Amino acid sequence: MLESLKDALPGKVSTAPTDLETHGKDESYPLQHPPLAVVYAQGLADVQAALAWAREKRVAVIPFGAGTSLEGHVVPQGPAISLDLSGMNRVLSLQPEDFLAVVEPGLTRKALNEALKGTGLFFPVDPGADATLGGMAATNASGTTTVRYGGMRPNVLALQVVLASGEVLELGRGVRKTSAGYDLKDLFIGSEGTLGVITRLTLRLHPLPAHIHTLRVFFPDLEPCAQAAYAVMASGLPVARLELVDEMGLRAINRYLGRSYPEKPALFVEFHSSTPEALAAESRLALELMQEAGALEVDVAHTQEERTAQWEARHQAYWALVHLFPGQQYLSTDTAVPISKMPELVSVARRLLREMGLQGNILGHVGDGNFHTLVVCPPGDARAEAFSQRLVEHTLALGGTCTGEHGVGLRKKKYLAQEHGPALLWMKQLKNLFDPLGLLNPGKIF
Ligand SMILES: Cc1cc2nc3c(=O)[nH]c(=O)nc-3n(C[C@H](O)[C@H](O)[C@H](O)COP(=O)(O)OP(=O)(O)OC[C@H]3O[C@@H](n4cnc5c(N)ncnc54)[C@H](O)[C@@H]3O)c2cc1C
Repeated sequence: MLESLKDALPGKVSTAPTDLETHGKDESYPLQHPPLAVVYAQGLADVQAALAWAREKRVAVIPFGAGTSLEGHVVPQGPAISLDLSGMNRVLSLQPEDFLAVVEPGLTRKALNEALKGTGLFFPVDPGADATLGGMAATNASGTTTVRYGGMRPNVLALQVVLASGEVLELGRGVRKTSAGYDLKDLFIGSEGTLGVITRLTLRLHPLPAHIHTLRVFFPDLEPCAQAAYAVMASGLPVARLELVDEMGLRAINRYLGRSYPEKPALFVEFHSSTPEALAAESRLALELMQEAGALEVDVAHTQEERTAQWEARHQAYWALVHLFPGQQYLSTDTAVPISKMPELVSVARRLLREMGLQGNILGHVGDGNFHTLVVCPPGDARAEAFSQRLVEHTLALGGTCTGEHGVGLRKKKYLAQEHGPALLWMKQLKNLFDPLGLLNPGKIF
C-alpha cells in the first residue's frame, strides 16, 4: 500500500524506523503505534497529494510540526501516516509597515524572530519549546508574554488550510479586526490537526519594546508568592511577563544550568514600556505591591545577557525538572482559572500533592491564571492521573478550564464533557462536517 504513497510523493516518504519512532510519540507520551510512514511535505501540492492518498486508502493523517506537544497530540491511535510540515519553513513575506508576516507552517517561532532582526518588530508568543508556528496555531499555544500580547488567536490574523477533501480555504484577513461572518479562522486555531492542515499563516507582529525591566522576586512561601502575583494583576499594571517558579523549580534550574538562585518561591517579572519614566513608575509600584505581600529579596537583571539568562532559566525549567528525577514518570497539569482564583488553586495543588504523598513542582503563567503542576512518580503509578483528575475538578468548580494552553490531545479528553456540557456535541458535529471520513488526527479531542 505504501508503494502508491511513494509514487504519489516521490522522495518525500520515509519508513525508516527512526523517523517512525520520532513521529509516533511526543514529549510526554510513549510510542503506542508508530505511523505507517512519514511524509515530508515541501508545499501545498504535497499536502493535497498526501490527503488524496489517505482518502483513497482510508488511512488517517496526523499533521506534525516539531512534535513538542505534551498531551499525545501526534501519537497515532491506529493506522496513520504522519504529515511532517517542518520542511515548509519559509517566510513568504514581511510587511513591517502593516506589522505583518506571512509564513509557512513549519517555520519555528525562533526562526521567525531571527528573520525579524533589524525590523524593530517581533512575534511574541513563546511556548517553552522551539515549536513550529503551524503547531502553535493548531494548539492555540501561549507563553510567558501572553499576559501582555495574547496567545496565538489574537496574533494569527489569517490562515490557509487544506481540508481532508483537498479543498483549500483562506480564513481571516490581514487586519486587526473584522466582523465578516463566522470566525472559522479561530475555529481552526486550537483544532489540533483534527479539522484541516494549516499551510500558511498571516501573523501579527509587535514593536520591540524600547525599555525593559526584568527582575526576580523571592518569597518565604508559595502562598504569598501567588498572592503577590494577583496583587500585581489586580493593580492593572501593564506587566509583560509574570511567571511563578517554586523552590523545587529553582533547585532544578540551579543544578541543570549551574545557577545560584535562592531556592525559594519566586516571581519572574518583566515590564515593557516606551519611556524610561513609565518603566520606572510601573516597576516601582509593582515592587511595592510584592513587598506588601511579603517579598523577601529582589534581583534585577541589569543587562540584556542577564535578561536572556533569566528567561532561558524559565524556559528550561521543564528539562531541569526532568533531569532532577531521572527514571521517573512526569505528568504536567495545565489548569487555568479566573485570575482572582489563581492563589486558591495554587494552594489546592500544593495541598493535594501533600495529601497524596506526591512529589511535584508548581510553575507557570500565573499572570494569566494558568500554571502547571509537574507531578513526578514511578512509572506506572496511577496517582499522577488521580492528582490531575482532582485538580481539574477543583478548577472547573472555580470556573476554570482543564487546559489553558497545552490542548486536549489524548489525556484531557475525559474532562471535556464536564467542561463543555451539551456544547461538546456541537463540536463533534463540526468535526464531522469538516472531516466526514474521520481522517484527520482521529482519537484526539473527542
Ligand atoms: C519544555 C516544553 C515547554 C512547553 N511550554 C509551553 C508553553 O509555555 N505554552 C504552550 O502553549 N505550550 C507549551 N509546550 C507545548 C508545545 O510546545 C506546544 O503545544 C506547541 O504549540 C506545539 O507545537 P509543535 O510544532 O511542536 O506541534 P506538534 O507537537 O508537532 O503538533 C501539535 C498538534 O498540532 C497539530 N499540527 C501541527 N502542525 C499542524 C499544521 N500545520 N496544521 C494542522 N495541525 C497541525 C498536530 O497534529 C498536533 O495535534 C511546551 C512543550 C515543552 C516540551
